[in-house]
Amino acid sequence: MSNPRYPLVLLPTPCHRLDRASAILGIDLWIKRDDLTGFAGGGNKGRKLEYLIGQALADGVEVIVSCGALQSNFLRQLAAACSCAGIHAAAVVMEEPFEYGPAPFEGIGRENGNVRLDQLFGLEMVEIENDTWDHLFDEMERVASEFEDRGKKVMRIPVGGSAWQGAYAFAEAAEEVREFGFDEIIFASSSGSTQVGLAYAFAGSQTKITGIACDPEPELPNDFAKLAAELDSALGRSVGLQASDFHFDLGYVGDGYGIPSEAGDEALTWLARTEGILLDPVYSAKAFSAIIDRAKRGELPGMILFWHTGGVPALFADHPSGVN
Ligand SMILES: *Cc1c(COP(=O)(O)O)cnc(C)c1O
Repeated sequence: MSNPRYPLVLLPTPCHRLDRASAILGIDLWIKRDDLTGFAGGGNKGRKLEYLIGQALADGVEVIVSCGALQSNFLRQLAAACSCAGIHAAAVVMEEPFEYGPAPFEGIGRENGNVRLDQLFGLEMVEIENDTWDHLFDEMERVASEFEDRGKKVMRIPVGGSAWQGAYAFAEAAEEVREFGFDEIIFASSSGSTQVGLAYAFAGSQTKITGIACDPEPELPNDFAKLAAELDSALGRSVGLQASDFHFDLGYVGDGYGIPSEAGDEALTWLARTEGILLDPVYSAKAFSAIIDRAKRGELPGMILFWHTGGVPALFADHPSGVN
């Protein structure tokens, strides 16, 4: 298997104990700082992009086409990575894509935040009306085909960078924390390559891998299983993860993807004031609200790792109501 890597992030990211939070919550809580990758504002997508861009360069790709929410952290990091690599990046975006019918707009806002950084990094953005994720994927295909019609060599990268190379990056990342022997690793989960990579690396071990859902889609573990199968075939292995092998907790998603939850906002404020660490309202704050809730229920025995997936620039998106 050829798996070229294009260096972007500073590894390993720090991993340290949260002493004040642990004392207050009565648990043994650690944090993995993928908010501190040192690349394009930080976040879990930098690791995935090292392998995705490595592949693109090996294949002589001229244009990368992807898609996501307007305030996507992935597209911000993709745009920066493509600029570094001399590849044109284009993305189809919706303010608030949905799975089950339109929600009234209560998202994090369209100005500033990641959008400001996308412009800085030179992303070509094609914005379309809010609709389903499937419609977003169709429009991405349309834009990719248009580039091909103009004779360009195009690579399509699925939402969130969740191709097998993204999952591979997280299987590798798992080795940065294996020696600690954590009992459970908890993190925000959405397009799946973070969860697939970690679950893949820790399959058959004592470490429980728990993704906190940021999309209200109970069937996402089926997609995770497909991605794990792709990783198996790329690596010539047979770990064979099934949908039921993924612990995917839908209890903290709130009203929908991209819509901040009350518990998440409380967790965000609490961690800021307890540890001086910033979370984001769409992903990491919801995941951390699970830690606070489960600690209170006495459900977090042993050594717990919160894998901070980043997203902090979204905190600076301007909401029309003035509230974030
Ligand atoms: C993309 C993202 C996630 C989810 O990671 P996936 O690999 O897509 O499941 C979690 N947190 C933040 C901040 C993200 O940007």
